[in-house]
Amino acid sequence: MVTYLGSAWAKLVITKGRDIRTICHLGRTINSHLRSALEVRDPVCVVPGCNASLNLEIDHIVAVNDHGPTCLDNLVRLCPYHHDQKTYDGYTITHTDGHWHWHPPANDPPRRRH
Ligand SMILES: [Zn+2]
Repeated sequence: MVTYLGSAWAKLVITKGRDIRTICHLGRTINSHLRSALEVRDPVCVVPGCNASLNLEIDHIVAVNDHGPTCLDNLVRLCPYHHDQKTYDGYTITHTDGHWHWHPPANDPPRRRH
């Protein structure tokens, strides 16, 4: 990896790294490796058109209570507003063809927390 910082530059070579895609467990806790990978993959809320970058929250796409694993493919960073919509109002998110898709609930949202 080469990073340019204005006129300075740095090169980082990882020789004994871990493939972040292989880290997966059934607990809720998100370790530092996964957190770093999410921060790089999702620098802003992934809901199309949102682009919020502050106070992002990590969400399990398939909830832990529904046996969703804690791995990169099942985690996403959302702003608090969209995280609440997903958690309490029935919105869902999917990732296909390299793009995130935000789906409203089939019925009226059950309740609003705001
Ligand atoms: Zn958002």
